[in-house]
Amino acid sequence: MKRYIVYSKIKFIALVLFKALYAAAFVGFALILQWLVNTITADGATADQLFFCVGIAIGYVAVFTAILLLKDKASTAYINKAVMLLRNDLTHSLLHERYEDFASNDTAKYLSHLTNDIKTVAVSGFNSVITLPEEIFTFVFAVAAAFFINYVVALTMLGLTLLIFIVPVVFNKPLNRANVRLSDAVKQYTAALKQTFLGIDVVKNFGSEERTEREIARINETLCKKNTVLDKLNLYAGDVGIFIVVLLQLGSIAIAGYMMLQSVILIGAVIAVVQLSGNMYSPLMQIAGKAALISGIRELDETLLAMAQPPEAQGEKLFGFERGIRVENVGFSYPDHEDLTLKNVSAAFEKGKKYLIVGKSGSGKSTLLKLIGKTFNGYVGKIEIDGVDYKNISERELYKNIAFAQQKSYLFDLTVRENIDFNGTGDAQLLEHAVEIAELRDFVLAQKNGLDEQISEEINQISGGEKQRVGLARAIYKDTDILLLDEVTSSLDKETAYRVEKNILALRDKTVLNVSHKLHADLLEKYDYICVMDGGKIVDFAPPAALLKNNALSQYMDA
Ligand code: ADP
Ligand code: MG
Repeated sequence: MKRYIVYSKIKFIALVLFKALYAAAFVGFALILQWLVNTITADGATADQLFFCVGIAIGYVAVFTAILLLKDKASTAYINKAVMLLRNDLTHSLLHERYEDFASNDTAKYLSHLTNDIKTVAVSGFNSVITLPEEIFTFVFAVAAAFFINYVVALTMLGLTLLIFIVPVVFNKPLNRANVRLSDAVKQYTAALKQTFLGIDVVKNFGSEERTEREIARINETLCKKNTVLDKLNLYAGDVGIFIVVLLQLGSIAIAGYMMLQSVILIGAVIAVVQLSGNMYSPLMQIAGKAALISGIRELDETLLAMAQPPEAQGEKLFGFERGIRVENVGFSYPDHEDLTLKNVSAAFEKGKKYLIVGKSGSGKSTLLKLIGKTFNGYVGKIEIDGVDYKNISERELYKNIAFAQQKSYLFDLTVRENIDFNGTGDAQLLEHAVEIAELRDFVLAQKNGLDEQISEEINQISGGEKQRVGLARAIYKDTDILLLDEVTSSLDKETAYRVEKNILALRDKTVLNVSHKLHADLLEKYDYICVMDGGKIVDFAPPAALLKNNALSQYMDA
């Protein structure tokens, strides 16, 4: 947390000094009171003297209020910027996390961290820490002022302060627990909402609005309960604190009053002690309460900080793609799954050649493509590109050479053009080419604004086949040497699928690994190799002619 709170040393120090000034002015008011009361209770005091003193006191309060306003202004701006920096770091590290690590969590968790948890940390943590100096200063100045009035009174008051520590001792642990439980409940709630929104088609189609509503209401009720527990604890801590502070104030008045009766101090000093006891105990109470809050969010804070750690840059550089990709004795099972999805897979993919990967559903085609796309790293065996081990290359470096189009592509809330030219490099010729290859021409012409038509993932706005082709055009536009295509024509009609595949096969120089269910007899021979998978293994890997001769592909052909 410190990294964010002291994000600017100079500003932080300035803020602390400002708070010291505020605290001094606040405590100084007790001395003004003492002076005022002693002046008007002295023998022979006049109304003129009274009005003069009150005038001075009002001037003092006006200056004090100005300092207070400035302090609050600076303080809020500072805290909000600290929160913004933490949020930016979280986004940065999430975006730079390895794909595999990122994908191992539900995105709902990230969302609830970035919204709810960060708010908790900001309110309870940053706010508390940053306002702490003013309470500490107020307390210290109040003690000093008390000593200035009378050291016996001051020492007694100090002794009484120990009672205040009852609050953190009693409340810290329960607060910590309540915070973590609330964070879990928010995570569940966010996840439930996310699922419902994404699956709204199914919910509607099954007429299960009420059932879904009940389920969300149930989670919402848990959320409400956890929130109530936390709020209650916070309020109770405050209430107990108020009770203790009142007791302490009465104790201080008793001591000061006794000293006055013994003629050690004047009435003005008693009034000042009343004021000072507030200046002393309230800040201390606040400090104790804030200590409880800060310790209450420690676990959340650690989670967020761990998340905000920028991942280490890893890997060797690749200088273009020259030779090929080799997969050697690769075995892989998905995280938390025992059975092997890929078993002892070996294959070599040479630069510039075209590969068709076929096999029954579930045979491991997508998984193989994902490993070649470095989506997962937890495999045994070896994958190399131009002789460099995948484990030594960063995703970023590898992706400069690979474009990966999947069966389902995601459309951003952007124009068709921006969805394809995702980095906004603005190469008109390349865009034209990508639209051509993906057979998107007619789609673009049908849009009122052509390539500048706004599209999005919105339900039913754009068909599955159109989406697939935008995704494919995006991969083509990337213009890398290697194209990994996973069933990119699965939602297209037979004729369009044929044309798209033909276009892809005509891309000279590109290395294409195409996973497909739809085999077109007269395109098969345009491939250099066909790889047949079954049960997580490669069972055939040969030029099409050889496989066609053996009838090895007949079961994958349409009748
Ligand atoms: P294909 O693309 O040939 O249809 P996949 O490679 O997608 O097959 O899947 C191979 C096997 O791995 C299937 O049994 C599938 O259920 C399993 N599988 C795929 N993705 C995951 C995943 N994320 N977690 C666990 N198992 C998975
Ligand atoms: Mg698949």
